[in-house]
Amino acid sequence: MPKQGILAIISGFSGAGKGTIVDELVKKYGYALSISATTRTPRAGEVEGKNYFFKTKEEFEQMINENKLIEYAKYVDNYYGTPKDYVMEQIDAGKDVLLEIEMQGALKVKEKFPETSLIFITPPNVSELRRRLEKRGTEEKDVIDRRIKRAKEECLYMHKYDYVVVNDDLDECVEQLNNLLKSLHFMANNQKQLINEITKEFNIIK
Ligand code: 5GP
Repeated sequence: MPKQGILAIISGFSGAGKGTIVDELVKKYGYALSISATTRTPRAGEVEGKNYFFKTKEEFEQMINENKLIEYAKYVDNYYGTPKDYVMEQIDAGKDVLLEIEMQGALKVKEKFPETSLIFITPPNVSELRRRLEKRGTEEKDVIDRRIKRAKEECLYMHKYDYVVVNDDLDECVEQLNNLLKSLHFMANNQKQLINEITKEFNIIK
């Protein structure tokens, strides 16, 4: 029987290290990663179609109107959204798909697809979070302050996630996440095809 792909969302405070972790999961273990659309301006080194699909506000709003996004949210003055086609194609092909998105979007996807697993990544403490944001050096101080403020708001919703993983040591965190993602295949919700097949077989027996 073909393997059933899982859909997992990885969220975390800005500066928690999600981007690096997700890159490692894709490189080392071959997960399919959804590339989001955003109206944010590219950071130095970011590549169109690899990090994001960079859109104008008008283009993004057109994607919303044409129902091309599974979800979208506004985050610190910019739109971010998940294009529908790629995610659906990969899941149908039996791939395990990761979405690296923020909390409002994550909760919307969970509502639409309840079998989605929500994983939250956090640094060990808040001073470490600020240190990582400052070290990244890609944002102005006021943007960092707004991202910390946003993290404070997000903290109130962390308990809505299915799993919380601390990113203290990067390699260890990547291994823990890969083990967690592998174990998600055992969830009954992620084995609907197998359950259907076995039920069908039993139904033949008089
Ligand atoms: P950044 O500007 O640091 O790349 O991303 C800011 C936030 O937007 C991060 O928390 C990131 O996970 C989130 N994000 C990225 N893509 C999407 C998306 O498609 N939808 C939603 N809802 N959030 C996203």
